[in-house]
Amino acid sequence: CGIVGYIGKRPAIPVLLDGLKKLEYRGYDSAGVAVLEQDAITTCKAVGKLAVLEDKLGTDFSQTCIGIGHTRWATHGRPSDLNAHPHLDTEAKFAVVHNGIIENYIELKEWLVEQGHTFVSETDTEVLPHLVEYFYKEDLVTTVREVLNKLKGSFAILVMSRQDPDILVAARKDSPMVVGLGEEEFFVASDIPAILNYTRKTYIIEDGEMVILTKDGVEVTDFEGKEKEKQLYEVKWDA
Ligand code: GLU
Repeated sequence: CGIVGYIGKRPAIPVLLDGLKKLEYRGYDSAGVAVLEQDAITTCKAVGKLAVLEDKLGTDFSQTCIGIGHTRWATHGRPSDLNAHPHLDTEAKFAVVHNGIIENYIELKEWLVEQGHTFVSETDTEVLPHLVEYFYKEDLVTTVREVLNKLKGSFAILVMSRQDPDILVAARKDSPMVVGLGEEEFFVASDIPAILNYTRKTYIIEDGEMVILTKDGVEVTDFEGKEKEKQLYEVKWDA
């Protein structure tokens, strides 16, 4: 029920865990993170409190500076390590975290299975990385745009790609999302408290908006790719 994404200059995992802790109030039954290393996406997931995930990660975790994290409140599929997010495509090229419900996931899943895709979880979310895998041609941004237009339901989504190691792509419909703007580091989260330890400069993301984050900045567009002007919102309060 919470998402956090980080791209920047410090190790991602502690930032993700800190952000997820600040989102605990939203409720959850399991949690997970994925980071992008040189040529691989690695995930760590655990049922239960964030402390269980932290234990599993240990102290010797990856120091890479790009990653996504999730606290899950199960809607489709019981709470389990396998159903916890992030979810991957068949070849672990793409990782996705998602809040909300993909209402047309059954028909999408049936169609993807016909195309030869293998699913490992019972979630609605798992169709997302497989759709990205299926439609991927040249770059993540156009692919995610194509995928978004096939979805019914509610979502805050965050996608990371081995093919596009310098970006994170996020999108929102009927599920909250904010972006945090730091110095050569950028954040996405379900709510402001998740990023307040790092920056007070934010964009509040609206329904129908997509966000492209790199180490150099953030671009917000609609689902057709048309650029949106965002107002800077400076957070004056403490969580
Ligand atoms: N529907 C998704 C699931 O059951 C996401 C739930 C959530 O918002 O945490 O995995």
